[in-house]
Amino acid sequence: MDKLKISISGVRGIVGETLTPEVVLDFARAFGTYIKSGRIVVARDTRPSGEEFKESIICGLLEAGCEIIDIGIAPTPTALLMVKELNAAGGIIITASHNPSRWNGLKFISSCGIFLKKAQVEEFLDIWRRKKFILITKDKKTDIERIDIQDVARRHIDKIISYVNPDIIRTKQFTVALDSCNGAGAIITPKLLEELGCKVIRINTESDGLFPHVPEPVPENLKQLCDVIRTKGADIGFAQDPDADRLAIVSEKGECIGEEYTLALACQFVLKKKRGVVVTNLSTTKAIDDIAMQFNSKVIRTKIGEINVVEKMKENNAVVGGEGNGGVIIPEVIYGRDSLCGIAVILEHLAESGLTISDLTATIPEYKMVKTKLEYPFDKVSELLEKIKDKYKGSPINSEDGVKINLGDSWVHIRPSNTEPVVRIIAEAKTRQEAEQLCESVKKLGTS
Ligand code: MG
Repeated sequence: MDKLKISISGVRGIVGETLTPEVVLDFARAFGTYIKSGRIVVARDTRPSGEEFKESIICGLLEAGCEIIDIGIAPTPTALLMVKELNAAGGIIITASHNPSRWNGLKFISSCGIFLKKAQVEEFLDIWRRKKFILITKDKKTDIERIDIQDVARRHIDKIISYVNPDIIRTKQFTVALDSCNGAGAIITPKLLEELGCKVIRINTESDGLFPHVPEPVPENLKQLCDVIRTKGADIGFAQDPDADRLAIVSEKGECIGEEYTLALACQFVLKKKRGVVVTNLSTTKAIDDIAMQFNSKVIRTKIGEINVVEKMKENNAVVGGEGNGGVIIPEVIYGRDSLCGIAVILEHLAESGLTISDLTATIPEYKMVKTKLEYPFDKVSELLEKIKDKYKGSPINSEDGVKINLGDSWVHIRPSNTEPVVRIIAEAKTRQEAEQLCESVKKLGTS
């Protein structure tokens, strides 16, 4: 049986096995104890298991003396926004993000409307592990406020529309094919697109949580969206993961352009308007550096994990940031990855450029990324990392998160997994063959 996965990004487990209502109840008690008191925003994605888990979350938070703001089914970025806008003490989102439906999980938000930082996660998890809950009895009925999804959607859409130029998007009357994977994005995204003057071809926008394909928005799972664009025609296609923080783009030709391009295009758009610092993680495409250089802007790289990017964005007053897996962060809107904001930004970029999305994408420097992994015992990993450093000792090496070797037009990043005896290897180069060779040469060090 897979273990419960606990990381800086939250908790994930298999429903009914590692993640049960009892397990969820304890996490809510721990979070309520950690927060101490105050109003907590509770949201969930569309997974059928979410409703029962929400009851456990509400129960645990009430026991810990918190009040509840239940916003129902909502995207992760929307929940982040609501914590901030309502001056709540924190938030919990019930979601397993891009994982298949047998999974569910929890993400924890601080009063700043961002995910818990490393030290906060450690403090909260310590309460959970030792069951150091401080529980009190409160009047349950009066402590639950429910906010209608229409109100919630309005706030998120208004925030996005105040950042972009909606008129320029509206004049184009784009036809947009949208695959929300029947996830939380389906609740708000069609409305946002309609308000931006788009004709929406809806694919999997039922918000019933019955995922029609494997939910991760990577090319092998977006065949239906590509086929619809090829047969019906559309200016662009967008795919979201079930909690709508990740965004993938499909071209007007019905071809996936790859999630790395989502952030690259967003950076190009933002930097054109406003030069400044860009923050992204160590495994995101080098195209970001090339784009930033064109606009005399600086790129700061962080460890993997959204909160690491967000912290550095705040520290450096970054103008844009995110992660290569389709996670766009626009600080004026939300300090978190937001597929809805990403959609609006890409549409404005497309409208201003006057190009097709294929031609606009062709303006981004092209790299090929290859991801692979190597089974490796936990206790031998540091030895392997030393071997890799030694092999590449003439090149710039970053050791903040595993080892990343920068080799001019290419790079390779080697990261041990925290949860399984596996080392992840990601390489990027001008050609696929070169990227594959880089992965192979690292693998060879691991097997020699
Ligand atoms: Mg997600």
